[in-house]
Amino acid sequence: MGVFQASADRSRSPACDLWLYSLAPGIAPGSQRDNPDYARTDAVHIDQLTDAELQAQLAALQAQYDKLKGLGLALDITRGKPCTEQVALADALDGILQGNFLAQDGTDSRNYGGLEGLPEARALFGSVLGLSAGETMVGGSSSLTMMYQVVEFALTEGLRGAESAWGNSDTVKFICPVPGYDRHFAICEHLGIEMVTVPMLDSGPDMDAVEALVKQDDSIRGMWCVPRFSNPTGCVYSAATVERIAALPKLAGEHILVLWDNAYVVHTLYDDAPALASISEYCRSKGTLDNVFQFGSTSKITFAGAGVAFLGSSKENLAALGRHLAYQTIGPDKVNQLRHVRFLRDGDNLAAHMARHADLIRPRFEIVLDTLERELAGTGMGSWTRPRGGYFISFDTRDGLATEVVRLAGDIGVKLTPAGATFPYGKDPRNRNIRLAPTFATRQAVQQAMDAFVVCVRLASVRQRLQ
Ligand code: PMP
Repeated sequence: MGVFQASADRSRSPACDLWLYSLAPGIAPGSQRDNPDYARTDAVHIDQLTDAELQAQLAALQAQYDKLKGLGLALDITRGKPCTEQVALADALDGILQGNFLAQDGTDSRNYGGLEGLPEARALFGSVLGLSAGETMVGGSSSLTMMYQVVEFALTEGLRGAESAWGNSDTVKFICPVPGYDRHFAICEHLGIEMVTVPMLDSGPDMDAVEALVKQDDSIRGMWCVPRFSNPTGCVYSAATVERIAALPKLAGEHILVLWDNAYVVHTLYDDAPALASISEYCRSKGTLDNVFQFGSTSKITFAGAGVAFLGSSKENLAALGRHLAYQTIGPDKVNQLRHVRFLRDGDNLAAHMARHADLIRPRFEIVLDTLERELAGTGMGSWTRPRGGYFISFDTRDGLATEVVRLAGDIGVKLTPAGATFPYGKDPRNRNIRLAPTFATRQAVQQAMDAFVVCVRLASVRQRLQ
């Protein structure tokens, strides 16, 4: 009793510096070792507590919980929205054109046309994806819209004509690494695409599982990927994983499409954040560029509701998609594209802008992590990730408790992402994953929410043990 057990059983991914605290007894992060004041010294693993000790903890936790209930909290750490100070970093977009609406090639951005986007916008955002301007299309404000358009096009009309439409087969399946992004799953569900899950590792999707699946099941047509600072675990796919994904068509056949959603490609929190290998380089060497669509947007760079989205793929794919989109639109909002090019300018300026974002949200991430480490490290009541970028921290409760923790928190005014949201069909088979999104709330609100969260985790865990 009362003995803090030092870090003996931890796993650290060199690829993404992502710490996963296991539920095994006595785990503490390396950072706590470096800073002895950091962690509570009385952490005892829940499985080591006697019934009497559990009862004592239950009474104390219930009292804490009731007190929190009396505070009338109204906190929300559900969605990955940038906070007001973050969007304000791009306020200079307003008025930046100063009446000069002409693009470099003389195009009047105010007028119709230019389905693929302004040339300078294609060059700038292509460079973000590691593609040439000719391999990049710049659209409206939402990359999610572009993902939907690509999937629906491939499903209903076919990237290479009617014969190639996925919908010609009775069953169409996508591989979904889990935990993952709920809106990807929603697209599949809405379009009647079946989802097959594979575990997300520190190095990205479990590629042994992915390769085994595509070899044995020829109804698999796609795979969702958030390769850098994945939503929600924050991992960065290792170079080996990126290479294996680029090679998937060799195993799966030419019909397979990788949806490479690089929503957080430049969203680092720390200078040492791991880089992402270029999938297009691997694709070029393997001849699989046709099988990958990359996506990105400035939603979390400039204005989440009024940014610029872009996609990249082979020239053939862009031409096919362009022909399809021409039925939906005469062209995107080029005025906004021009504003973005004048504001973001180049890679160096973009990186400086992202550093200002990081300065605003890093403290919020650290509040979450410090609170988890101080209150839960070594207790066996949960495990979590320590991303070096992105928008989320992924927390796993003890098996079976995510719904209960979310309910307990909701009842005292702390809104969490619904349990199950990070899994297809909303079903987390172990009912343990909770996505924490600390960017939007104020620091004080994040601290209050986390203080309440750890009480809910402890209360649910102790109650479970006593059952
Ligand atoms: N992809 C991922 C992985 C995301 O987390 C989000 C936002 N939460 C989006 C896409 C949405 O992007 P956009 O605003 O460009 O539609």
